[in-house]
Amino acid sequence: MTSTPLQQGSENSLILYVEDPDELIWDIEVDILVIGAGGCGLVAALAAAELGAQVLIVEKERAAGGNTSLSQAMVPAAGSRMQKELGIQDSARLMVADILKKNNNESDPELTLHIAKQSGRLIEWLKDNLGINLELLTDFLYPGHSLHRIHANKTRKGKNLINDLLNAASRFDSINIAYNAPAVRLIARRSDSAVQGAEVKIEGIGINLARAQKVILALNGFGANRDMLQKYIPRMSSAYYFGHEGNTGEGIQWGEALGAGLESMGAYQAHGSVAHPHGTLLTWVAISLGAYQVNSRGHRFVNEYHGYSEHALDVLAQDGGVAFEIFDHRIYQAILDYEDIQQCIRMGAIKKFESIKALAQAFNIPETTLAETHEAFQRAARGESADPFERTEFGPPLEPPFYGVKVTGALFHTQGGLKIDDSARVVRDNGDPIINLYAGGGTAAGFSGKAGPSGYLSANGLMAALILGKIAGEQAAKSIESGSV
Ligand SMILES: Cc1cc2nc3c(=O)[nH]c(=O)nc-3n(C[C@H](O)[C@H](O)[C@H](O)COP(=O)(O)OP(=O)(O)OC[C@H]3O[C@@H](n4cnc5c(N)ncnc54)[C@H](O)[C@@H]3O)c2cc1C
Repeated sequence: MTSTPLQQGSENSLILYVEDPDELIWDIEVDILVIGAGGCGLVAALAAAELGAQVLIVEKERAAGGNTSLSQAMVPAAGSRMQKELGIQDSARLMVADILKKNNNESDPELTLHIAKQSGRLIEWLKDNLGINLELLTDFLYPGHSLHRIHANKTRKGKNLINDLLNAASRFDSINIAYNAPAVRLIARRSDSAVQGAEVKIEGIGINLARAQKVILALNGFGANRDMLQKYIPRMSSAYYFGHEGNTGEGIQWGEALGAGLESMGAYQAHGSVAHPHGTLLTWVAISLGAYQVNSRGHRFVNEYHGYSEHALDVLAQDGGVAFEIFDHRIYQAILDYEDIQQCIRMGAIKKFESIKALAQAFNIPETTLAETHEAFQRAARGESADPFERTEFGPPLEPPFYGVKVTGALFHTQGGLKIDDSARVVRDNGDPIINLYAGGGTAAGFSGKAGPSGYLSANGLMAALILGKIAGEQAAKSIESGSV
């Protein structure tokens, strides 16, 4: 299936421009080419296939999943049936207010509202059309959400969400997936930059020219590309990267080369409690239920409740870039079922102590200072005195035995990317579409502010991946049907 059609095209490293696409010898022809088989790509393919489109997904790695499979499968949605059943009166406007409050009004309010309006329907579509059940989580309020609106699968495992999406895709003859098949560059018509398909390097076969009426970029951001990090987010360019290695940013570079606008390139999600040196995630649920952190000198350093993303920088600013998270058996029991916690336990990251003194000794923290810090925290948790860091959310005061975990801050994923419109079409700065090109998930600009980690509201990532994936798939299929760009 190889071909040598380049005599007609001209090359640069990102785009193969051709004069007349009909003159090329194409190896593959489909309605829609989806690049990337994470949450965004799989949902896009399913939404398009439901409308009758023939879809090819090409995935760089030997398995689907990307960051989505590393996630806890938590998806925010307003006005879902599950919320209504519990009498929770949520609305897209309320969800937007929470998103904009967190990102300091730095995402387009209309596009944000458009996404929020689709969120409840996404959860219902997953269940009703694909048989994928995401239940409403009501154990506690996720930081920054004013109501219970986070939905997740029973296991809280992104890998299972990916498996469910793959199962759903396997029921469509019109969806094919090629693994070990990175797209290496887009192919576009020279006269108007209209996208025609992509060069795909298929293992054992070589470069293939895949022609598609529409191309959907679902290959996430640039968390695994140190050069792009150095350019756009130098602060995190040498930080530990906790995301998927396949996310090297080429989708954003292709879009930019075709003239697309770039937005929020300095924004990202980080996390302030990755067990160190184990590299396993200590879920933020522990903090939400009443855990706290100290540095190696035994001092707390910030209100831990402000948000896990921005907290990463606080941890990285401590001696050695580490902190120690402390919680009790009540919290341990509550988080025990999380797969990430099981992994922490298997790796020996969570250590148990009968007293704070023993914990201090084990982690080489000054005993007296930690004892004083612990007592001050307990007084604040009992409501006897104000917290010096103005934390107001505590669980009950902590009781022995105690658990301690050494943690560090890590980069999870980038939030900047290609400018899109409300049909998920990739657009130029002036709003004109790049013909035939769509993007979602981490390849599109997110809803988490212009720069830094603090604009990220819990679960903004899968919101952009799944909702924009669905919009992109539907709109691409509909525009083929109607013959529009
Ligand atoms: C540990 C962790 C936990 C998280 N938990 C949550 C959560 O609970 N809720 C939430 O909202 N967000 C969470 N996030 C963020 C969330 O996972 C991401 O925002 C989301 O999964 C992005 O989805 P995506 O489809 O855009 O990208 P991905 O899921 O990363 O998929 C992109 C795919 O594209 C492939 N690819 C890349 N380049 C190419 C190429 N050239 N050709 C072909 N394929 C290519 C990659 O290999 C990958 O499989 C978490 C992130 C991490 C790291």
